[in-house]
Parts: sequence; structure tokens; C-alpha cells
Amino acid sequence: METTLRTDITVAAICDGFVYNELEGKGLYGLSGKLVIQPEYQRNYIYADQGGKREKAVIHSLLKGYPLGLIYFNKVGEDRFEVLDGQQRITSIGRFVTNKFAISDERGNPQYFDSLPKDKQEKILQTRLLIYECEGTETEIKEWFQTINIAGVPLNEQELLNAIYSGPFVTLARAEFSNSGNANIHKWRAYIRGSANRQDYLRTALDWVSKGDISGYMSQHRYDDNIDELKTYFNTVLDWIESVFPFEEVPSEMQGLEWGRLYETYHSNAYDPKKVMEDVQALYEDPYVRKKSGIFEFILGGKADPSLLEVRVFDEAVKKTVYARQTKEAEEKGISNCPLCAIGHDANKCRIYKYNEMDADHVTAWSKGGKSTEENCQMLCITHNRAKGNK
Ligand SMILES: [Zn+2]
Repeated sequence: METTLRTDITVAAICDGFVYNELEGKGLYGLSGKLVIQPEYQRNYIYADQGGKREKAVIHSLLKGYPLGLIYFNKVGEDRFEVLDGQQRITSIGRFVTNKFAISDERGNPQYFDSLPKDKQEKILQTRLLIYECEGTETEIKEWFQTINIAGVPLNEQELLNAIYSGPFVTLARAEFSNSGNANIHKWRAYIRGSANRQDYLRTALDWVSKGDISGYMSQHRYDDNIDELKTYFNTVLDWIESVFPFEEVPSEMQGLEWGRLYETYHSNAYDPKKVMEDVQALYEDPYVRKKSGIFEFILGGKADPSLLEVRVFDEAVKKTVYARQTKEAEEKGISNCPLCAIGHDANKCRIYKYNEMDADHVTAWSKGGKSTEENCQMLCITHNRAKGNK
């Protein structure tokens, strides 16, 4: 890979012909059309997130004459370049000089580029950026792109995969799942955590359809000219969730569950949505259920595994009281303080366990209506407690 350091390119030149695509959240072109700012393998523009703190900082740096750091161009042809690193900074500058956002002046008043005094406008436009032009094979460039430590926000795993497997499939998939203008996002957000910009919907869709083998799937479909399977599978999972749990308002605990795995495991079972919703409501109201997000899989699994719900356990005071009572009675009778050991026939028949050798057990299981109260508590040795299971 060959590199040439350029110090002659001004902000004015970079921003000549700058186009920002509002819909895709991308800076597209600069340098009079010779520069592609966001090639396919690049991430979306994120400097406008969080109230635009980062993009404003870029402009303040220019005005104060602070260095913006190195920018890397990939030379893809005679007089044709792609931004390899620096697209967030360049997009910030391009957006500012095209009046897409304002900065605050010394008095805290918002100032768009056009409303800045001429000398400040010139200062920005005449700033020279430090640019490395790199020339190499696609493989060299992409390998290098993976290894450079991008200042500010590091690429996350899905952004890296988009870079590695760039091609028609990623282009189409991003247009669907990484576009924050997609009207379906409000629906996706109920079940999936994250944002379109950081590729969370794309990652989830790929995770579901590939059963967890995202890179394998991307590699296999890299040159596909459609994303039909990806889209269909994704929508099938969402439709299934909505048919089993027909909420009018989806509770927040449903967000971020492993819906792909749950769909694969349970979608061939039949559920009565009316009964399901009654069960959901009862469990939401049950003060013993500590992990509300476990309710959905608990119900899908036929209410067989209460450990999903992290049912409230006995508090320390209750356990100590019950331990003291059981131990006193056992010592008087000369039997073990574990009631199950006491009725056994082995060497532990008369063993008195220490407090930390025992654990609390629900006499009547929570799933059968038993509460975590002193009356429903018995202390068992750890072996017997485990054998009885966490019911
Ligand atoms: Zn025992």
C-alpha cells in the first residue's frame, strides 16, 4: 500500500459539491464530485447524535485553529477518492457550510455558517486538512481499515462486518435496516434494543435468520441482489411475537429479548392468545416475580421453568429464625436438623448442619401459590435443597 501526505487541500475544496442525504444520514460527495465520503463499508453519520455535540466540536476546532487529526483517502482511480477515515469530521464540516446545523457563538447565540462574520467563514474555508492518500488493493485497504483505531467512536462489530462483506447484499440490507427514516422502526423498537445508525436492527435481523452465524451468512449472501430471505424471516418473527402476545402497548420488558431463539424454540407450539395475556397480567401483578422480562419465555415454555422469573427468595431474617427453630427441635429429638436427612437411613440421619450448610426451601412451591414467608419456609441441607430443585 502506498501513501502520500497531502497538506494542500482546503475545507473549501473538500466541501465543493458536498451533498448530504438526509434520508440515509450520509455525507455523499465532496471535492467537486471526485470524493465519495461514505463508501458502502462506512458507518452512518453519528456526529449529529446526542444534540450534535460532536459535529459542533469539529467546527469550534476549526475556528480555534486546533488540528482535526489525520484524514485518510483511498485512491480508487485517477482523481477519484473514497474517505477511509475522517468521514464523520468531513460530513460535519460539509453539513455546517451548507447550513444544516448551527453552533453557538461567544454569547451563546446560534450561528449558521451563512450568519457568521466573513472572516470566520474564510477561516473555516481556508483551513488545510492533513490528508493521507492511500493506494492499494481492495483487500489491503479493507484489512487496514479493520486495524486502524478510528478516533472517537470505535466501529462496532456489525459495522466491521459491513465493511468486510461490503457488496450488493449489504447495500440493500442497510437501506432497509440501517435507515433511521424507515417508518417501521417504531414497531421494531418495541422488541429490539439499539438504533438504526449503530446497525442494531441489521445485526438482529441477521442474527435471527442465521441462527447466530452472522458472518457466515453475510459471506454466503455477499453478492446476492436481494434481501428477501432476511426480510421475510425478520417479519415472520415479529408477526409471531405479535400473534402470541397481542399487546396494544408493548411492555418495555419485551425489548431486547432473544426473540430469534424464542421463535425457533416455540413457534411450532399452539398458544391461546387470550389465555396467554391473562397469564402475563397475573405474573406482572405477582409481587414474587422479580424478573418481569422472564415472563414471556416462562409462558412460552408452558410455565415449567420458574427460574426464568427469579422468584423472590426468603430474606435472611426468615431463614435464620427457621434455622434456629428447626435446629433446636432436632437437637431435642436427637435427629438431623434437615428434615429430609432425618427421615433417611444414612450417616446424616442425626447430623446437625451449620447455617451455611443449609438453604431455604418453599414447602409449597411458588408455582402452586406458596409464598416466601416464614410459614412456608423450611431449611434443607444443600444436597437435599438442590435435589428438590428450585421450584
Ligand atoms: Zn438433608
